[in-house]
Amino acid sequence: KKTTVKDLLSTPELMGTEVEAKGWVRTRRGNKHVQFVQLNDGSSVNNIQVVLDMARFTEDQLKPVTTGSSVRVTGKLVESMGKGQTSEIQADSIELYGTADPASYPLQKKGHTLEFLREIAHLRPRTNFFGSVLRIRSSLAFAIHKFFNERGFYYFHTPLITASDCEGAGAMFQVTTLDLNNLPKNEDGSVDYSKDFYAKPTALTVSGQLEGELGATALGQIYTFGPTFRAENSNTPRHLSEFWMIEPEMAFYDISDNMDLAEEFVKYCINYALEHNIDDIRFLSERFDKGLEERLRFVVDNDFVRLTYTEGVRILEESAHKFEFPVYWGADLQSEHERYLVEEHFKKPVILTDYPKEIKAFYMKQNEDGKTVRAMDVLFPNIGEIIGGSEREESYDKLLARIKELDIPMKDMWWYLDTRRFGTVPHSGFGLGFERLVLFVTGMTNIRDVIPFPRTPGKAEF
Ligand code: ATP
Ligand code: MG
Ligand code: MG
Ligand code: MG
Repeated sequence: KKTTVKDLLSTPELMGTEVEAKGWVRTRRGNKHVQFVQLNDGSSVNNIQVVLDMARFTEDQLKPVTTGSSVRVTGKLVESMGKGQTSEIQADSIELYGTADPASYPLQKKGHTLEFLREIAHLRPRTNFFGSVLRIRSSLAFAIHKFFNERGFYYFHTPLITASDCEGAGAMFQVTTLDLNNLPKNEDGSVDYSKDFYAKPTALTVSGQLEGELGATALGQIYTFGPTFRAENSNTPRHLSEFWMIEPEMAFYDISDNMDLAEEFVKYCINYALEHNIDDIRFLSERFDKGLEERLRFVVDNDFVRLTYTEGVRILEESAHKFEFPVYWGADLQSEHERYLVEEHFKKPVILTDYPKEIKAFYMKQNEDGKTVRAMDVLFPNIGEIIGGSEREESYDKLLARIKELDIPMKDMWWYLDTRRFGTVPHSGFGLGFERLVLFVTGMTNIRDVIPFPRTPGKAEF
């Protein structure tokens, strides 16, 4: 393993030894006697300070060492006198890999707006703020695998290209090898898909859940973790057209087991970040959101509130708050309603259950009242919904009846119905939008700022 800047800053045994550091120059300043270079290699939000005694280096030699240039430094690691610094390198040599012309390097100045940085997504990872976000994102991804692995879940891979929009979770992106300028047509004018690669209309998946259920009803407990695609045509701070989803699916779990797992899961992930990314969390907290660390600890340390949709709607109806969208029993809740319950009313994360069946998907287990289904949404401060899940309908007859009622094409569903036809079992699952979790843990407010290359309407360049 190569020694990183993070190691140089946090390994007491390295003190006093000859070390090497490679990375990108954040700043250089000083005078004709001594120069200071702040060097970062992506391993930490903190830079290592490189001290250059100008008795040993020439002005000409240091001239190309500007913000954004890449260098290799060797020297002795010593204790730093500077406040906030643990160690620094007393440089013996500095070698340049690549220059970054100050006249054209876009990250020259400090304090760019988040909007501007989105326009230069290709260079954005070199900023401190985005470095912190990306390290936290990577950590959370690892925590997710660790959590499920420790509990005996299998990582199950579901297809990205699919021939059925069974769920109707969102508008789909079509996939085709046909020439769009010259589509083959049937006699009635419709597109002749027989010439297409899959010989039928296909699209990118909006969720791996239905295939995930096939995994759970064979392996017991599985989870998926992969990209999903929804042609969300609205510009909101919480929706992307390409986002990552984690979808555990468990045989023999009822809705209450499902809620327990969801709560334990998100707390585990947040805890993992608190343990492994505290420097990044504190940096982001300092820079954007003073209450961040406290809010994360609060969520981890307190039970989530659990109540039914019906009770939730009553609270919203009785509140004096003016909502943009109306609330009434039967309406799908908007982010403003979800956030009111969490931030104003309970001041805790909320799990809302038993939604009206009309606003939820066909596969959710129907309650005895004939009106609601065993759905659960986990609602978080600053965001609203981060998880949607349910106990699944395991009765073949009830599921079939619901499919007919909603007029879902049966020919698309035969393989899914087979899980209920052969050895059906009670089972449950949920979907967590990965970027919404990263939003919460980083305290960022726009989902475009927690993924390296956000895909939103009109934006797919890099
Ligand atoms: P919303 O109500 O916010 O549009 P949803 O109910 O349509 O979400 P689900 O189909 O329940 O979403 O998907 C499960 C989870 O995936 C959601 O709880 C959310 O965390 C996440 N998610 C859904 N759509 C998006 C999106 N366009 N971008 C990012 N995350 C998303
Ligand atoms: Mg949606
Ligand atoms: Mg929703
Ligand atoms: Mg949902």
